[in-house]
Amino acid sequence: MSSEGMILLRCGGCGGGLEGLPGDLLFLCPRCSVCWQIAGTSLTPLALESAEPGPGGCTGHLPFWMLEAETEITKRFSRPRESGFPADTPEFLVEGRPGLIEAPPRRSGEMLFVPAFLTERAIDLGLELTRSAGDLGWASTGPSMMAGGCVSLDDAIELARILVLSREVRQPGSLACAEVSVAPLHSRIAAIPFTAVDGGFSVAGVKSVVPYNSLADARAILGCFGRSVDQPVISDRTVPEGRIEHHTVPRAQGGGSDVRSQ
Ligand SMILES: [Zn+2]
Repeated sequence: MSSEGMILLRCGGCGGGLEGLPGDLLFLCPRCSVCWQIAGTSLTPLALESAEPGPGGCTGHLPFWMLEAETEITKRFSRPRESGFPADTPEFLVEGRPGLIEAPPRRSGEMLFVPAFLTERAIDLGLELTRSAGDLGWASTGPSMMAGGCVSLDDAIELARILVLSREVRQPGSLACAEVSVAPLHSRIAAIPFTAVDGGFSVAGVKSVVPYNSLADARAILGCFGRSVDQPVISDRTVPEGRIEHHTVPRAQGGGSDVRSQ
């Protein structure tokens, strides 16, 4: 639905109904393995890739933007770790800026992943999946359900720019400034498997658990897959006999509740 009027949420391929959350912009047609995005007052198709879940299966899939892009980093100035006061390091005088050294411009083609769902951890998640995507296996068919895709392509490109800049910030040496451009050549949606575990989503290709309270729609997304944050989410982790593990299950809204297992 748009502010201009109604958009009929039907697949342009098979005519089947499209399901999602109220704020979603991206809708999966499981019959055609196509993702439809709301663009203005119509739906336009996007290619869909689906990663294989691990041997234990998965709770569902989360949408990520998969941007094949040309990235360019220019005017990259850094301050060497050992550099002290500018007056002590005259050899680093570059373009009149004391203590800074400029790296040559870099241009490369790469595949960048950014979450298409709302999360506070968009950059960390995107960085990790961008690094590990080469290790994922890809399925020949798409998932039967996907929800929470509410990040537009324009916002995904902005997120990808921040991701590339953030990657530079984490390089050795102290980054002073850099200009980053990301020119997408091709965009599609990747359906990435996740499993609901204690406290959050375990996403394929991402080592740390994504806490429920860092996802805007965790509760609604889980609901699409017949799960609830309020019901205990059973972890596969075994706790050694005699030990008590005490931790907090974050809630999507309100405070947390203590869960004790032994
Ligand atoms: Zn269809």
